[in-house]
Amino acid sequence: MTQIIALTNQKGGVGKTTTAVNLAASLAALDRRVLLVDLDPQGHATMGSGIDKHALEGSVLDLLLGEKSAPEVMLDCPAAGYSLLPGNGDLTAAEVELLDRAEGRERSLTEALGSVAGEYDVVLIDCPPSLNMLTVNALTAANGVLIPLQCEFYALEGLSALLDTVEQIKDSVNPNLAIYGILRTMFDSRNSLTRDISKQLRDYFGEALLKTTIPRNVRVAEAPSHGLPVTKYARFSRGSQAHRVLAKELIRRLSL
Ligand code: ADP
Ligand code: MG
Repeated sequence: MTQIIALTNQKGGVGKTTTAVNLAASLAALDRRVLLVDLDPQGHATMGSGIDKHALEGSVLDLLLGEKSAPEVMLDCPAAGYSLLPGNGDLTAAEVELLDRAEGRERSLTEALGSVAGEYDVVLIDCPPSLNMLTVNALTAANGVLIPLQCEFYALEGLSALLDTVEQIKDSVNPNLAIYGILRTMFDSRNSLTRDISKQLRDYFGEALLKTTIPRNVRVAEAPSHGLPVTKYARFSRGSQAHRVLAKELIRRLSL
């Protein structure tokens, strides 16, 4: 069965896009068929996949508005090994148009993915840093959510709003939506605050707190400017290795 996973956290800069791109590449390197969906108007997952977001012939916008089909918009990222439904600033217009719709507005992405998702083992959706209609579309289409966060004092603050949104989606359009994992990014185990927050996360989330952590690593930050996942840009870096371990943990957990 295809697993559709939304990478979400309404806080910006926590590592959603970095995780989406590098996890997509790591799963592809382990022979999984992967589709990455860039649902953020910033188009960072698109750029990080080596695709110029300003030169797109079609984007997820066209899918959400029903103007093009997924195969028409889909791009291959041969260097990274996955397929991409690219996004850019046009997505802001989709957000506005969807909000104006009376019915079915949260199901646009589900419908757009319907015909293609089955060709993949995993679909990863990189969400924008807000709980808007685009994110609601991602949570409606997904089987589960992966929540990247940084172990800092304010990390937990926004989490309850996100968990409330997940509950609302479960109560309305997607009863089976699961929390697939809480991922600690830019992790520094020497920091005592990091250890405190890890303990709080473990107490609250139990098994959902992923064992893998992604260390802060300069190669991870450099890779997007080369349009490559870190696993291709700096294969033997700590950041690259951590994303590979993450891919294996998810393969085990979700039987991918
Ligand atoms: P989000 O998508 O949640 O806004 P990003 O993935 O864009 O977050 O990450 C925010 C910034 O932090 C980016 O500049 C990115 O390169 C950097 N970054 C993310 N993860 C790491 C890491 N493990 N090590 C170093 N820098 C990182
Ligand atoms: Mg992002």
